[in-house]
Amino acid sequence: MDRYCVFGNPIAHSKSPEIHAAFAAQTGQALTYEKRLAPVDGFAAAVQAFIAEGGKGANVTVPFKLDAVKVAQALTIRARAAGAVNTLHFTEDGIVGDNTDGAGLVADIVNNAGVQIIGKRVLLLGAGGAARGVVLPILEHRPAQLVIANRTVATAEALVEQFAALGGEGVVSACGYADIAGAFDLVINATSASLSAELPPVPASVFAPGSLAYDMMYAASPTVFLQFAGQHGARLRDGLGMLVEQAAEAFSLWRGVQPATAGVLQSLRDQL
Ligand code: NDP
Repeated sequence: MDRYCVFGNPIAHSKSPEIHAAFAAQTGQALTYEKRLAPVDGFAAAVQAFIAEGGKGANVTVPFKLDAVKVAQALTIRARAAGAVNTLHFTEDGIVGDNTDGAGLVADIVNNAGVQIIGKRVLLLGAGGAARGVVLPILEHRPAQLVIANRTVATAEALVEQFAALGGEGVVSACGYADIAGAFDLVINATSASLSAELPPVPASVFAPGSLAYDMMYAASPTVFLQFAGQHGARLRDGLGMLVEQAAEAFSLWRGVQPATAGVLQSLRDQL
């Protein structure tokens, strides 16, 4: 049986083995998928050990997404743009690093929530690792406008500079929260504020009628950001679908088969 795993530290909480086991059962693929706790300073050695045991691929989560860039011998365009790797593929030609987080977000918004991005006004809150990983996949869907708002404006400006040359010229711009102007069709919270039950200081006027508010974090009850957005008329979606869709994208890369995600997402939702 082909072997896969997810590396992280901590890793006990990971839902990835359950998601990939469900995909494998559904598509009839013979594989195993396990959790691997890698030492904080021993990621590369943990990857080599897994390859020596016959590993075919791996997912990578906190805190190893930057270490995985260095372990990879080749990077996909989206992994290079994200500056982070969440999926490793051990091929005959070497270790390929990919990043499926952004594609997962876009698949959840477009396919699951039924919201098209083309021609839309998009506001991205945050400019950390998660935000950087989703900029290129969003731009590929040709929004009318992509505004990146961040507490530290210089970090958002650096993203604009990076992505101007990757299809973002004239589309992507940066600002601080106090300077956010206008209303948006899609407002994505890619800050880590929700982890500490904080609300990014975003004005209520950002939510256009019929807009979708998306929080990359997921929990049993709506985050403070989603509560705020709901009070101002937005439709709401959390990041559980992104988690499942990034896994589906990795599974398809490894196995050449695209799994259906709706049942797996519902099953995870029921367990929250
Ligand atoms: P980083 O630490 O790289 O970045 C944090 C970002 O949040 C920065 O832009 C920071 O601003 C901003 N921020 C932090 N606190 C506040 C606050 N109180 N108010 C406003 N802005 C704030 O984190 P990541 O990018 O890696 O992760 C962000 C979130 O995305 C996490 O909640 C994570 O769980 C989620 N995520 C979800 C995934 C999924 O599959 N659903 C996948 C990946 C991530 P500044 O630059 O000014 O410090």
